[in-house]
Amino acid sequence: MLVIGNIPEFRAARAALQGRVGLVPTMGYLHEGHLALVRQAVAENDHVAVSIFVNPTQFGPTEDFNSYPRDPERDLQLLREAGGALVFMPPVSEMYPPGFQTYVEVTGVSQGLEGARRPGHFRGVATVVAKLFNIVQPDRAYFGQKDAQQVAVIQRMVADLAMPLQIVVVPTVRAADGLALSSRNSYLTPEQRQAAPVLYRALMAAKALFDSGNKSPEALRQAMCDVLNSEPLAQVDYVSAADASTLVELDSPTDRPILLSMAVRIGRTRLIDNLVLS
Ligand code: AMP
Repeated sequence: MLVIGNIPEFRAARAALQGRVGLVPTMGYLHEGHLALVRQAVAENDHVAVSIFVNPTQFGPTEDFNSYPRDPERDLQLLREAGGALVFMPPVSEMYPPGFQTYVEVTGVSQGLEGARRPGHFRGVATVVAKLFNIVQPDRAYFGQKDAQQVAVIQRMVADLAMPLQIVVVPTVRAADGLALSSRNSYLTPEQRQAAPVLYRALMAAKALFDSGNKSPEALRQAMCDVLNSEPLAQVDYVSAADASTLVELDSPTDRPILLSMAVRIGRTRLIDNLVLS
């Protein structure tokens, strides 16, 4: 496994590869969710590149960039086992050298949900992902359904800017109790960790309502809120029932797929989760 921290060296290693290359962009502190992306990329491509980069431009000024969990040695060991052959692990100065002043801004799908609560977040995501695509030149790039709006933003960017690669979306990997795996779960105390599956239970309650024939978006949002409000440690940031392709909040029933999503604070940790109903 090659581990490379600078762009010219990475380009040289990439140029030597024959066949299809899959890219898995990550911020490290890897878990089984990341490894599901890596394994699928290994199965579908001749070579797999994994980037590990905690991207400062996607964190707001009051967010957790400095405290975001990092363990590069463990990450590299997990990638050796999963078969990630080429690892790109640049320092911030390599991705944002002095004088950097170019950003990618996706409008529309970036604006609601996470984008409304985290101003600038998707501008940072689109910028770093576009730069990673230019460095790695992958045939396919793998993203988790866990970050549903991120997927919509990247798909929009790739279509709008005619980027020559395929985006592959991988289902959310969950713990046995339903909690979506996330690097940020490591912030939770044991008591908070016990409370955290309430997000999944809220999604399941709305799904049960939908499956029983109640397709009212307001009823779906209410069902999620009711479950979340039953957990004293959970503070709802937002719940949403939106059109799954435009991400516009629904006010009446639709035959198109619905994205249920939410952000919830448990203590100081902000967790997100989602489910598509169709
Ligand atoms: P992150 O390191 O949080 O930026 O995540 C890197 C990639 O892994 C993103 O495409 C995420 O959507 C994906 N990912 C994170 N958690 C999960 C999960 N529990 N299941 C599937 N994919 C995930």
